[in-house]
Amino acid sequence: MVEPIPISVVAIGPDEESLVLEVLRSGRLAQGPRVEELERRFAAAHDVEHAVAVNNGTTALVAALQALGVGPGDEVVTSPFTFVATLNAVLESGATARFADVTDDFCLDVACAQALVGERTRVLLPVHLYGLPADMPRFEELARQRGLAVVEDAAQAHGARVDGRAVGSFGVGCFSFYATKNVMCGEGGMVTTRDADVADRLRLLRNHGMRAPYRYELPGHNYRLTDLQAAIALPQLGRLATINDARRANAAHLTEGLRTVPGLRLPSVPAGRDHVFHQYTVRVTADAAVDRDGLVAALADRGIGAGVYYPGLVHDHPCYRDHPRVVADETPVAAQMAAEVVSLPVHPQLSRADLDRIVEAVTEVLR
Ligand SMILES: *Cc1c(COP(=O)(O)O)cnc(C)c1O
Repeated sequence: MVEPIPISVVAIGPDEESLVLEVLRSGRLAQGPRVEELERRFAAAHDVEHAVAVNNGTTALVAALQALGVGPGDEVVTSPFTFVATLNAVLESGATARFADVTDDFCLDVACAQALVGERTRVLLPVHLYGLPADMPRFEELARQRGLAVVEDAAQAHGARVDGRAVGSFGVGCFSFYATKNVMCGEGGMVTTRDADVADRLRLLRNHGMRAPYRYELPGHNYRLTDLQAAIALPQLGRLATINDARRANAAHLTEGLRTVPGLRLPSVPAGRDHVFHQYTVRVTADAAVDRDGLVAALADRGIGAGVYYPGLVHDHPCYRDHPRVVADETPVAAQMAAEVVSLPVHPQLSRADLDRIVEAVTEVLR
């Protein structure tokens, strides 16, 4: 029996262990100085003045929309090819979700988004899917022209850049520290912004709208992260460049090995965009020897954990079909992606031998 190769691995080391122990012994387990340190360092790493830690990536998105004053009657244009949190956050804010198609880089198509912008549109919400930033300079320009806000779903894209600028610095950036993400602490999130007023509202929303002890300025929530969680995320943030470099190197190795396999389309990185390969996602095309689900099953037989992110459009479920604030716009490219994508392991814990085994297995199934 060969060792299985999982799609993701939780990798924490002695730095996380000692910092967690330090927090445990400090007696300050809730939000405190470690959260503050994480915010400061996260902001610096993402070219922004403000970072506000929250308890997960979904609440990061909700808080961002709330801080921008988005609510009932407003429309948010986003991607139909994303994790369900993106959609749920829009619905939680009270706004209506509209879906623009994606391009073959898996990210939101600027022209399609532009076509959906109307009277009610308040926010453009591109998703940096798999760690590849969306075309942010063009979204920024569209938002400027039409007076819209930009919220970036950067849950999968810590440290990714476009033309040298970090994701999360183009609009209000929403990050996740869920256990499988490039920086993680089990559960956690971060919101980034250059706007001091937005940052101020985020801090209020996070803590029951409280400005000073028992002085409430708005109806808020408890979105707080804990120092225990920050102690897990901090050492990883320090290693982020190394983590992303390892992912990029693994992706390059896979691309080199899989280049000539028939029926496979490999991820390409548009000029100026810096991919951090949260996932290495290929497309199994119609002329392949087996279809996508056949490849996933064959890889599972060989002990390789391939993942399908995501098997359908985000709104294509019974609970959204008749939802009054979900508008199922036509998105044929995204629908095709959902039928064709499969993600192969690319995480930093893979050895050269693991990568070669993945290449050999995919090649064997598709030749
Ligand atoms: C993980 C993820 C989220 C949500 O983050 P959580 O921390 O799990 O709440 C949102 N959007 C995308 C694209 C994600 O991958």
